[in-house]
Amino acid sequence: MAFPYNPSTMKSGIHPEMHQKAKTTCSTCGTVFLIPSTIAEQTIETCRNCHPVYTGKQQKDLRGGRVDRFKKRLEKARKKD
Ligand SMILES: [Zn+2]
Repeated sequence: MAFPYNPSTMKSGIHPEMHQKAKTTCSTCGTVFLIPSTIAEQTIETCRNCHPVYTGKQQKDLRGGRVDRFKKRLEKARKKD
């Protein structure tokens, strides 16, 4: 698989080096993809194997979002009164 551009028509010396098989690791499920990128080795948070859009399963957010943090703050404030 080649990246869809023609290097011969590009201005030389201004573009970063293109790695055709850059090692891309998913930090959630550990799958390794070899895809074109300017970064030789990189880590991604989610991929097509584990993202809820593709799996169809809801993923539980263990970190807790803004709403969770707000609820905790609210609970603390109520205890003080
Ligand atoms: Zn993944």
